[in-house]
Amino acid sequence: MLLDLESPDTPSSYDADVCIVGAGAAGITLARALIGSGIDVLLLEAGGLTYDEESQKIYDATVDGLRYYPSICRLRYFGGTTNHWEGWCGPMPRQSIGPRPWMPRSGWPLSADELDTYYRLACEVLSLGAYDFLDHQAVLPAEALTPAGAPFFDSFYLKQSQPRRLGEVYRQELVDAPNVRILLHANVLPIQADGRSIRELTVSTFANRTAKVRARVYVIACGALENARLLLASNNLANSSDAVGRYFMDHLFSTVAGAVVPAADYRDPIAFKAKVHPDPVAALRISDQAQRELGLLNCGVWTSPVYVPESLRLPGVRSINEQYPVLVMGEQCALPDSRVTLDPAAVDRFNVPRLKVTWKVDDQAQQTVRRALLSYAGMIARSGVGRVFIEPMKSEIDWPFALVSPCHSSGTTRMSSDPREGVVNGDCRAHDIDNLYIVGSSVFPTIAEVNPTMTIIALALRLADELKSVVRPSGTGG
Ligand SMILES: Cc1cc2nc3c(=O)[nH]c(=O)nc-3n(C[C@H](O)[C@H](O)[C@H](O)COP(=O)(O)OP(=O)(O)OC[C@H]3O[C@@H](n4cnc5c(N)ncnc54)[C@H](O)[C@@H]3O)c2cc1C
Repeated sequence: MLLDLESPDTPSSYDADVCIVGAGAAGITLARALIGSGIDVLLLEAGGLTYDEESQKIYDATVDGLRYYPSICRLRYFGGTTNHWEGWCGPMPRQSIGPRPWMPRSGWPLSADELDTYYRLACEVLSLGAYDFLDHQAVLPAEALTPAGAPFFDSFYLKQSQPRRLGEVYRQELVDAPNVRILLHANVLPIQADGRSIRELTVSTFANRTAKVRARVYVIACGALENARLLLASNNLANSSDAVGRYFMDHLFSTVAGAVVPAADYRDPIAFKAKVHPDPVAALRISDQAQRELGLLNCGVWTSPVYVPESLRLPGVRSINEQYPVLVMGEQCALPDSRVTLDPAAVDRFNVPRLKVTWKVDDQAQQTVRRALLSYAGMIARSGVGRVFIEPMKSEIDWPFALVSPCHSSGTTRMSSDPREGVVNGDCRAHDIDNLYIVGSSVFPTIAEVNPTMTIIALALRLADELKSVVRPSGTGG
């Protein structure tokens, strides 16, 4: 059923077994996975069915630290940020789920095998075909070795989800489901807990029409930045660890981290691709062995043999096929001072403090990207394909190339089995509040070098199984 709080006929009070806050990738997947379970589900969405400036403005935030774009890196209406994501998907490398002694705060409180089960199911949700990511291997144009003689690179493989606007793809199925109600224009306001539980939520339209929502279990699925903001604005809900908002991570991404100047035989992009990227979507990543040996993090690096805008071309390079950009996507550590906080100087139209985003990375992340680029450059040169130009790196913030966030915000309500170290446990349940779960990339303890949404979907599917086992249906759900 589709309800809209802006319509005067909709009730001003709701009861449900499970209340999900946010209808983006995570919330839609969770609601869908509960269809037919007998559990009565209420899916609250702040926005409507289409983009709306007034809703989007709630995402405005201030930024210090590294450049970040909190209002354009997410969308605030049904379908969430999947309304403009690019759909690239892949599983996290297995090594990245376990503890890495050389990486502070690494290690998920669940196993790679457990995640694998749900990655398989995520392939169906995202229309990705078979779960065969490990079958695709990039071919190295030349050997690249660590000082101890281990392979420096192996590959990772991504597939593009299509169709990928999850709000459009799954809306009708949710509307038709007898046990799911969607309530649009239901902006969840700061939450008040009663000891270790939440009794009710208040939702409001932009015209201040409010309603009360009572559920046995609440799931916050508002995206990594907003999950933290909602908890912080709710009088520090679920924050005895002081981890809410901290450990904010994104990928170190650049589409111009360097430039390959191809040798004459490889100026034709097809010849270049045939030698360097026979499989168009398998990119190179620093191998597990190289990471262990050199104390590095995950990092992907690849060349896109495409047209380079004139403004980005190296001096003296005129023809479009005389230079190809090198791309990187590097991992960073979870740092306590890389964080989102409430900005005391600014509030939104509901009087809720806006976010301040302070994105930081440390030397280990920078060393990782540097090592990946230098090894890649050496390999390209040895292969005879061309030469790679990379500007020297100076300091943490002063990156020599345009570093941009790929909008993979993560880590702000991190998962840990130790309540002093994280906000949720391995089942995504808040350590401090018995009937509160959080889902999305905000719970990621580490981010590897892959896009986050396939893992978000996998965690939402896993949470659905958890809720099926802990929530006894009230009998009202179909
Ligand atoms: C340009 C771009 C390209 C991207 N490309 C990729 C890619 O190729 N691969 C990839 O894996 N990822 C990509 N991403 C990231 C991807 O879009 C996100 O990881 C994913 O959408 C996050 O899902 P989510 O459900 O956690 O949050 P969202 O999709 O942001 O959904 C959150 C929902 O919560 C709602 N909400 C927020 N606050 C409230 C409130 N107070 N009350 C009620 N509802 C609320 C919002 O309206 C929204 O619908 C991209 C992002 C961008 C911006």
